Amino acid sequence: MSEIRLYNTLTKQKEVFTPSRKGVLGFLGIPNKTVTMYNCGPTVYQSLHIGNYRAYVFADILKRTLEHGGYRVQQVINITDVGHLVGDGDEGEDKMQVTAQKQQRSSKEISEDYTKEFFGGLAALNIEFASGQSPATEFPRATSYIPEQIALIEQLERTGFTYKISDGIYFDTSKFPQYGKLGNIDIAGLSEGHRIAVNSEKRHSTDFALWKFSNTKRDQEWPSPWGVGFPGWHIECSAMAMKLLGTTIDIHTGGIDHIPTHHNNEIAQSEASTGKAFVRFWLHGAHLLIDGQKISKSLGNTIYLKDLAAHGVTPLGFRYWLLTASYRTQMNFTWEAVKGAQTAYERLLEQVRGLPKGSVSDKTHARYRKVLDSAINDDLNTSKVLATIWDMLKDGSVSSEEKMSTLMEFDKVLGLKQNTSVGVLSYVFAPEIVALKDARDLARQNRDFKKSDELRAAIKEKGYDIVDTAKGSTLVKNSLLP
Ligand code: AMP
Ligand code: ZN
Repeated sequence: MSEIRLYNTLTKQKEVFTPSRKGVLGFLGIPNKTVTMYNCGPTVYQSLHIGNYRAYVFADILKRTLEHGGYRVQQVINITDVGHLVGDGDEGEDKMQVTAQKQQRSSKEISEDYTKEFFGGLAALNIEFASGQSPATEFPRATSYIPEQIALIEQLERTGFTYKISDGIYFDTSKFPQYGKLGNIDIAGLSEGHRIAVNSEKRHSTDFALWKFSNTKRDQEWPSPWGVGFPGWHIECSAMAMKLLGTTIDIHTGGIDHIPTHHNNEIAQSEASTGKAFVRFWLHGAHLLIDGQKISKSLGNTIYLKDLAAHGVTPLGFRYWLLTASYRTQMNFTWEAVKGAQTAYERLLEQVRGLPKGSVSDKTHARYRKVLDSAINDDLNTSKVLATIWDMLKDGSVSSEEKMSTLMEFDKVLGLKQNTSVGVLSYVFAPEIVALKDARDLARQNRDFKKSDELRAAIKEKGYDIVDTAKGSTLVKNSLLP
């Protein structure tokens, strides 16, 4: 098998990946097979948009590629449920707090709802988090690790990296000479006396909040050695990553928007506290644009997973589309492009349906297997993997058994559920459709068939239908019915 090479933002080049942890086995000369990986998770104050999910499909492909290479991946995806301020800086309101006030509910209720929805989105996209050869993914919440965050700030305070101003405790970036090693920062911000207008008390514009004081009443606040308040956004990732995965972790991912501030700050506070390298491989996913524009609420162009169904696009069709480009390439979402991918995906499923059932991995086709291995191991070249799969399907010299085995072997990497039949492809449905289905199930259970029929008609009017199976009822898009 070819070596896995990954593009490391830290060194700006592709490097051969091997995990660092030596442990007892390492000393005995037995290669370490566990990889530690931390993926910056979502801030759960609203639904994730399709761009956010691109970040987790990328992390999933990375995890599956490592598993394909024989590793087990200890994965952590954090849930940010406090401290991420509007504008991503040290000023402004807490995003959780803004939604809580708008919806007249507690931050906890809001975060529970959107976290649950996030898990549903991961499942719909077949993002692996509870099965396979790796331990179950951990999803730590920032609010569950307040003592660890306070301890980390205390450690930084003891070693002289912090200072106090009227709104909180800050990290002094000038005390950490390697500050900004991931790149993309405003180096001028590091020079002594460089002030920014927003917070004139900060010593340098690159300094950032570790602990903010509760200057207004909040529903999430904790006592600390510096007064009642809440953690800054960056400290949670350092505290949770180091607590759950160790002081030096193998891989850390996020979207490219995290490079300039969030990840440079994570490095500064972690390395200043331990004196050790925090992360060996930093990987960043490029953004998804919609019609050539940044996804933003104010532009009104946000698309969610549940919006795909109305256009006949399933979450896995969307996943297929994401895999047609490198995770490091910016992608532009258009309905035309994603519907084209849905069609290609359905054609793939049809092809697989015509192949013999069952997969025997020792029957994989040697030459194609080699091309596929080197493509995925070359910094996750999923577009080449897909193209090679199509080449193999069209190749008359490859037996059906070999095709099936090779496809199934690589389906573990692509996660496209290729042995699903097109008819049972599932969508993520808008809540109002799900509510109609639930009401219809209840009517049927109560043997109120008149009401059940009426509700079914209402569902049909919206372009969907219900298929009753032995295991219960499922919603399908009308166009998929024979
Ligand atoms: P957030 O909840 O803002 O921390 O975002 C969750 C993840 O989505 C982060 O890894 C971001 O870098 C990523 N992200 C945000 N916007 C996009 C986008 N348009 N395309 C791809 N990834 C994104
Ligand atoms: Zn983070």
